[in-house]
Amino acid sequence: MPQSDPTDARDTPGSSVSGEKRRKSKNGESSRKRGYNDNTRLANGSTSHVLRRSSISKPGRDGRDEPTIKRQKRERRRRQTVEDGERDAASVNDDGNAEAGAAGALTRLDSPVIDFDGLSRPSVGTRERLEESPEEAAARLDRIKGAVRTLLECVGENPNREGLLATPERYAKAMMFFTRGYEQNVLDIVNGAIFQEGHSEMVIVKDVDIFSVCEHHLVPFTGKMHIGYIPNNAVIGISKLPRIAEMFARRLQIQERLTKEVANAIFEVLRPQGVAVVMQSSHLCMVMRGVQKTSSTTVTSCMLGCFERRDKTRNEFLSLINVNSS
Ligand SMILES: [Zn+2]
Repeated sequence: MPQSDPTDARDTPGSSVSGEKRRKSKNGESSRKRGYNDNTRLANGSTSHVLRRSSISKPGRDGRDEPTIKRQKRERRRRQTVEDGERDAASVNDDGNAEAGAAGALTRLDSPVIDFDGLSRPSVGTRERLEESPEEAAARLDRIKGAVRTLLECVGENPNREGLLATPERYAKAMMFFTRGYEQNVLDIVNGAIFQEGHSEMVIVKDVDIFSVCEHHLVPFTGKMHIGYIPNNAVIGISKLPRIAEMFARRLQIQERLTKEVANAIFEVLRPQGVAVVMQSSHLCMVMRGVQKTSSTTVTSCMLGCFERRDKTRNEFLSLINVNSS
């Protein structure tokens, strides 16, 4: 019953904006209005087009995957690494490699994104999916088909009419495609394509197309992602950046987390001086229902390392991606 649904498209548990929204109104109508205003401000703010959404303190992950090392410790170590990097870029690179080697490539427990099994959040179900036999895969498809048939009946359709006969199967296959990122992991994607180039200038990949599925409504959100980083000697194969973005996008997502996961993953595998990710997208759950504002765009950003610390670096990135022009 979408009419009385008090949750807004952007109503995410980790967001302070929507948290405030929830507290201040139990009424669906006013909540929707507030959502609209928030998003308009995000899209059209005159001085800053990008708002930091650092309020999402918890990565959306399976509780069973919580790393043992505390977040604070993790942050302190990362900051230390980056500061060392500024003092002596060459030597920290050696240190960083030595550390990674000692810990083993797959056991970086301080990573908020890459779990030791390399599949990231939520790893229990995704591992089952990755390792299933053809029979199990067929059984999984059958279960989805049954659910879609039920759904068709519940909306008042006749699943046996000609046009809908193959729909459950088509949808099941499409859904598995939309979520195929659960079967990939960052380390396989990077596949050693990290090169010691002695390069330390900003690298930007603009306008990466993103097609993801909102985990709150299971409808798509689409947009563009801009990814930048400043190397610490090592550069990553340029095609790997869109592929990392694609992997996280092909999971059930919220835009805020998607932005953060891409930035964190690049930071983890490359250990650069900094990573910046900005994403603009349009959410069908907002456009087709709820507030029905077809032109609103949601912008999220995640700045790590020198992008977070230095205004100049951040502003250079923002002017180069020229968020406002598209
Ligand atoms: Zn949604």
